[in-house]
Amino acid sequence: MSGIVGYIGKRNALPILLDSLDKLDYRGYDSAGIAVSNQHQIEMKKTIGRVKDLRNLLLREPIIQGNLGIGHTRWATHGVPSVINSHPLTGCTDQFFVVHNGIIENFLYLRKQLSLKGHVFATETDTEVIPHLLEEYNTGNLEETVRKALPLLKGSFALAIMSNDEPDRIIAVSQDNPLVLGFGKDESFLASDIPALLPYTREIHPIKNGEIAILTPGKVIMKDLHGEVQEVERNFVEWNNQDVLLSNHEHYMLKEIFEQPKAIEDTLQGRIGENEILLPELDDFLSKEKIKSIKKIDFVANGTSYHAGMIGKKIMEQLVGLPVEVSFSSEFRYDHGPLDENNLVIFISQSGETADTLSALREAKKFRCLVIAITNTTGSTISRKADYTLYTKAGPELAVPATKAYTAQITASILLAMWLTQKGEFMGTPMIPELISSLNRLKSDVESTLIMTQDAIDQFAQVTFDQEHIFLMGRGLDYVLALEGALKLQEVAYLHADAYAAGEMKHGTMALITPGVPVIALATQEHLVEKTISNIKEVKARDAFVVGITTVRDELLYEEVDHVMYIPSTHSFLMPILAAIPLQLLAYYSGTVRGHDVDRPRNLAKSLTVE
Ligand code: GLU
Repeated sequence: MSGIVGYIGKRNALPILLDSLDKLDYRGYDSAGIAVSNQHQIEMKKTIGRVKDLRNLLLREPIIQGNLGIGHTRWATHGVPSVINSHPLTGCTDQFFVVHNGIIENFLYLRKQLSLKGHVFATETDTEVIPHLLEEYNTGNLEETVRKALPLLKGSFALAIMSNDEPDRIIAVSQDNPLVLGFGKDESFLASDIPALLPYTREIHPIKNGEIAILTPGKVIMKDLHGEVQEVERNFVEWNNQDVLLSNHEHYMLKEIFEQPKAIEDTLQGRIGENEILLPELDDFLSKEKIKSIKKIDFVANGTSYHAGMIGKKIMEQLVGLPVEVSFSSEFRYDHGPLDENNLVIFISQSGETADTLSALREAKKFRCLVIAITNTTGSTISRKADYTLYTKAGPELAVPATKAYTAQITASILLAMWLTQKGEFMGTPMIPELISSLNRLKSDVESTLIMTQDAIDQFAQVTFDQEHIFLMGRGLDYVLALEGALKLQEVAYLHADAYAAGEMKHGTMALITPGVPVIALATQEHLVEKTISNIKEVKARDAFVVGITTVRDELLYEEVDHVMYIPSTHSFLMPILAAIPLQLLAYYSGTVRGHDVDRPRNLAKSLTVE
């Protein structure tokens, strides 16, 4: 969702704020704005559009020079994208400047109350109640004023606030919404996400609920809501600035697709022993007895992570032999079956901040479930709330469409399923040695897949230039792949892409198959290929243009389809990782041939910190 940045130190704040905002614009690009202070006076500039539009505005209308400031790139939740609704927001006067990420759930009530007291609102945003509240409770001391106003806000919010009464400081708070402090030499930074901090520092403190950070030049003081001084942690991040540079790539999406061999290698690193999976910290949390007491396992996630969960479910069931369910976080939160301490619930979120997933996790905790998180972000809220976190090591993912995070999530889910199997001595134990040797080859299989499919997919993608519809079909794990492939095509190529379990086409969807309509048939699960071929014949009989994706071991498919693409053959559980790659490439090349900004698809944003 929206991105917040802040800087305070000795340097000119403007270039730092703009560079940091550039790194965060995957979180929203409806509008951008900044407020800069020279310690005497605060000035603000904002515009509809992206950070580059803000840069252009600043060339035309320069802002004062100062050594502290805050900035925002918006993904609108309340109120259309417009200059007036852009952050920073002020109240009746230019006394307080506020940037906000999240939703103030009781904003209507507060707006009414404040209006009765004479406050006049200029925007449609929920955020605007905050500067008005600060005006209402203003004591002349910013920290005190913030402490008075905060308890009145309901919802999720990360805020950075400046005041004309004390233009030498920034106050930052966070409630169920990420905001990270970064420490340099005599300077401090604020950002919604770590990549924006990496050019300046790798020492961070993610601000937690109930903490108020007071940033003055050269110093950060952390207090609680009662004004008691708290300890400022200094955590060291593994990622470095190199990881977030586009280098010579045209788009982050393609760069990240090609980073998958490394993401998978790093996720497996140190976790595969001779004949077993090694997750030592999990050993401390889950004893054999505890594992034996598990009656049901749930995967809970959204979007692409939900598809990783669907794959996790199918593999987990076959290895562990327990009932496994998969749910959308946004549904699970309000609607789930019976839960108790015998449920293991696995939450998947790349950012570790997804609001729906966080709420669902809290719900599971209420029922004393065992909670494991799979996330890519150290120190994220979800990782802090879970009993145990299995980190994916995909590195920072900056393109809005998830690619390397997805295959790393599947890898982590498989590791977890294997670990549970061996420790609980479940029915899949005999499969472990073969799976281990396939995991050891996985990185090179992923590399081969990239080489084998890139050009062919680029060519096929040209065919999608003037298409409106595309269908994907498959059975078993291939069906999940079809779902993820369709989601990628929707978000990146804006194609109406629909996925079907291959056997279901004849139950309705076949009516949509017209001559020439592109269909992608996935047939990577050896035991299901023949059945899938029957379904391919059905769509071919209606003159669809069928592209098949199968393994080098398959000898049947090429006769049945218009075009076949081969990928390496590995253990059936790992095929979804390899087969995801041509589908990601297809979305990328279709998106670019259709002229879309693949890294920043319209209406979307990454790291969804609102429910
Ligand atoms: N609710 C605020 C707005 O619409 C912030 C949105 C967000 O965090 O994405 O301006």
